[in-house]
This record gives sequence, structure tokens and C-alpha cells, in this order.
Amino acid sequence: MSALFTPGRHRSAEVTGDHLEIDADVAILGAGAGGCAAAAALAESGVRVAVLEEGQFWNPAQFRQSSSWALRNLYQERGTRSMRGNSVIPIPGGRGVGGSTLVNSAICFRCPDPILDRWHDEFGCTTVTKERFHPYFDRIWETLGVTTQSAEIQRLNNTTFKKGAEALGLKGHFLARSAPGCVGCGICQYGCPSGGKSSVDRTFLVEALSHGNVAVYADCMMTGVEKSGDRILAVTGDLLDAESQAPRGTARVRADAFIVSSGPIMSPSFLLRNHLSDPAHCGQHLCVHPGLAGMGRMPFEIRPWHGVTQGYYVDCWDKGYLLQTFSVTPDQYYGLMSTKTGAESMEWMANLKYICSAGPLVHDEDSVGHVTWTPFGPDISYFMGDGDKRKLIDGLRMTGHVMFAAGAERFMPAVVQGPIVLKAGDIDAALPHSLPASHLHAYASHPMGTCRMGNDAATSVVDPHGKVWGWQNLRVADASVFPTSLGVNPQVTTMSMGLMIGHSLAGKIP
Ligand SMILES: Cc1cc2nc3c(=O)[nH]c(=O)nc-3n(C[C@H](O)[C@H](O)[C@H](O)COP(=O)(O)OP(=O)(O)OC[C@H]3O[C@@H](n4cnc5c(N)ncnc54)[C@H](O)[C@@H]3O)c2cc1C
Ligand code: SF4
Repeated sequence: MSALFTPGRHRSAEVTGDHLEIDADVAILGAGAGGCAAAAALAESGVRVAVLEEGQFWNPAQFRQSSSWALRNLYQERGTRSMRGNSVIPIPGGRGVGGSTLVNSAICFRCPDPILDRWHDEFGCTTVTKERFHPYFDRIWETLGVTTQSAEIQRLNNTTFKKGAEALGLKGHFLARSAPGCVGCGICQYGCPSGGKSSVDRTFLVEALSHGNVAVYADCMMTGVEKSGDRILAVTGDLLDAESQAPRGTARVRADAFIVSSGPIMSPSFLLRNHLSDPAHCGQHLCVHPGLAGMGRMPFEIRPWHGVTQGYYVDCWDKGYLLQTFSVTPDQYYGLMSTKTGAESMEWMANLKYICSAGPLVHDEDSVGHVTWTPFGPDISYFMGDGDKRKLIDGLRMTGHVMFAAGAERFMPAVVQGPIVLKAGDIDAALPHSLPASHLHAYASHPMGTCRMGNDAATSVVDPHGKVWGWQNLRVADASVFPTSLGVNPQVTTMSMGLMIGHSLAGKIP
């Protein structure tokens, strides 16, 4: 048994025996965007922090350009996690020290001011002010080295879409990204093999560790609590074998305060399975930024597997969506093309090097999503609302127009059994608003909102300081606490919430 608080990085395999016992001032459950930012905010305030993460430590040399390897090692539920409702939508999440930032595309957006204002004014999030969050955004820009890549590194998938957008007079830019050393290898979702991406394990966590009062334990999945009255005494769980991901021992962490930062699917799951919050709101209000893909077939080579994975966007936030370029590996392109007949998809696959790919990301507002806890794990449902579906289809139509303006000869929307569009004038008829949600081959990787913040225990899960209503020493700090979706990629807002809730716990925010 180990019973010490030892600053530094620890793996399950290094624990002597089959039980780990730790005492800390604060225990953080999950080493993703929110957890690592909270750890940095607490560490700089002199607090002793234990960070517990179910996945492994990774270094760039270990990442492999293989879907099966990445899904098995870097993703929750080995990449099979999905939502069911009026459509089935994959909802992947990262697993490992770094959380989803290990596998994300590094896109950085500051939370739009109207969203911050709405959270403050409508939901009573008194701690969420522009005066506090703008400096957090500046700090994140600096810590992560946020920048845009040159056209040479962007390569043709991004620059071709940019040309199309400019030809239509649309407002677009290269995306700001937390990848100052990006070499444009196009496989962000498999981990960054060059080390050019500033995932939080390489930035906020390094900063936290530099204070000498942070201990990070990988391969520790925390599932239970010991409680007394309105206080949590300890969290308990399994020490995992890193390779098989099976339990090899047990872990127990005592602390004065606890922060759940396990992401918007697992944080409400932890609260619900331990009866720490009311299911009337805990696990409810799930938003995800649903997205759809469109592929333009160009008369010249694109080679979409070369270049920045997601490098350019068109700003239609006022209409409820952004268009963003993307590239994936050939097996994943085949997944998108399998919405067509076998012969069509094989013909497109044979011509993959001519394909430019992009699609809308929607600010979801009238869809209804939930996470509930079952004996088999989280059950996730999401029913796409008519308004959100309309925005998704509008964004897909706009993607098609940009592709034709960039020179496409054909456009393939990721719509089940939908037609291949041969000219811009046919787009609207090919993509009617009446398409059922189940025909849209949607994707989502931005879960949010399942432990929403607010100033009323009757309508929210955490108070404006991230404190779970009813508990003196339990907080949530991750993308679960957003009261609504953002309409822009969420990692920066998540880190800002982590910083704010860490500073609040350290007594720096009244
Ligand atoms: C493929 C993909 C691409 C994305 N691209 C972008 C992008 O380009 N830009 C952007 O802004 N956002 C992007 N996102 C979203 C962004 O990464 C997330 O919004 C952000 O990381 C959420 O932070 P979080 O702290 O809520 O959760 P996470 O970062 O997911 O961290 C949660 C951590 O908790 C751990 N955990 C879960 N349960 C337990 C447990 N019981 N015990 C211990 N540990 C546990 C998990 O293993 C994980 O490491 C992407 C996400 C994905 C999946
Ligand atoms: S494109 Fe390649 S080098 Fe650039 S951030 Fe992604 S994985 Fe790293």
C-alpha cells in the first residue's frame, strides 16, 4: 500500500501492491481541459493537488497512425460511444492524461461575448464576466501558444475551401490553433506525433507540476465516494492495468475538497451513480454542436491527408453555424461515403486524392439531450430539434456552394442515400429541410451542459463557483458546467471555467 502524497507523475504499474491511498488538499477526477486548468490555478495558489486520470500518460513518439490503435488507446469506450434518438450520432471523447485535448484538432475560439453575457444575465452565473474571462482567454493563448499556420502547412484542403469562400465573398479565416509546432500531418485525432500540439498534458499540467505540489496518477478510474453529512470524505476507484484497461487494484483518495472534471458524459455519471445530485437537472441539457460533412470532387489533386487537419472556417455564427474544413484518414472517409451505394462510394474512394472536405458545426438550441446512469454505464440520448436540423442543412448547402465556387465538379453530402449534386443550382433541391434527422450522417465531439451552472438549485447542478448544490466540498470543472452550447469549439471556454473554478476554490474569487 502507498499512503504518501508524492508530487510528480505516477503510473499504476509503479504502485507497490494492489492499493493506492493518497491524502491531498484537493483531488481532481480527470486530467482533461477543465481538470488540468483547475490544477494549474490551484497549484499556483500553493494548494496540494492530486489529479486522478483513468487513461495513460502519452508522449508523441507513442502515437500511431492507425484508427484501431487510436480508438482502443485514446478514446472513451474504445471509440464506440454514441447517442441514440431520432438519429444515431457518434460522440467520441478522449481518454488519457490530456483528455480530449490529446485527440482534438487544436481549434481555439474565445467564448463569444453574447454567450458570456447570457450565462451571466439569464442563468445568474455571477462569476462569469467578460472582465474575468477575457484575461483567461489571453492567458490560454499564451500558455498554449495559439497561432494560425502558414498556407504552406495548411495545404490544399484548407486553401481550396478558402478560395471558394472568398469567391462567394464569405467571411472566413484560417483557424487559430493551439498547435504552434504543427507540421501539417493531418492526423490530430490520433494524437499529435510531432509534439507540435499543445494538449493540456504538455501545457497546463506541466505548469501545475512546476510548482512542486501536484501529483498526477494515471490509470486510476474513480467511481465511488465516502461521505458524511454534506461533505465528501474520500473518492474511491480502481487502479487499472494500462494495457488491458482491467482493474489490477484499488485506489482511495482523501482530501478537503474534490473537483469532478471527467467530461460532460462521465461527470454527471459520477454524480448520478453516487446519488450526489438530482437527476431532474444532472445529466440533462446535453448539447453537442452537431456537425455534417460535405465532400467536393475537384478537377485537381487535393490530397486531403496532407496539411492541417482543420485549418480554415467560414463565420456564419449569426446564422447559428460555422463551416470548418476537416480531413480524416481514408478508412474514416469511407465511413462518410458509405452513405451512398457501394459502387458510388468505391468510385469516390478510388478518387480520394481529388476530394476537398468541410462541413457545418451547429450552435444547438432546440435539441434535447440527456445522460442517464445505468448499471452498464452512461446511456446517452439526443433528439435533434427542427431548428437545429434546419441550421445543419443550411450549413451543408452553404458547404456545397463553397465547394462549387472552389471548382468542384461534384458534391457529396453525408446524407444517407442522398444524391451526388452536379451543380450549385441543384443544391437546395437535393438537400430539402424536410430530410429526416435519421438521414443526416451527423457527428459530434463537443458534449456540454450536463451539470449546468446557475444561481438556483432548482434549475441547475452547480452554483456560480462550480460547487454542486447540497455539498460543501464538491465541485465540477469541465465542459459540463456550460449553461448552453456556444456555437464555437469549446476547449478554450472549458479551460477558462477550469481556471475560474480553481481560483474560486483557492479563495481568489469572492
Ligand atoms: C475528436 C475531438 C476533436 C475535438 N476538436 C476540438 C477542437 O479542435 N477545438 C476545441 O475547442 N474543442 C475540440 N474538441 C472538444 C474539446 O477537446 C473538449 O470540449 C474539451 O477537451 C472538454 O474538456 P473536459 O475537461 O470537459 O473533458 P475532457 O478533456 O474530455 O477530459 C475528461 C477526462 O476525464 C477522464 N475521466 C473520465 N472518467 C473518469 C473517471 N471515472 N476517473 C478518472 N478519470 C476519468 C477522461 O479519461 C478524460 O481524460 C474535440 C473533441 C474531440 C473528442
Ligand atoms: S496536423 Fe499533425 S502536426 Fe499538426 S497538430 Fe495535428 S497531429 Fe500535430
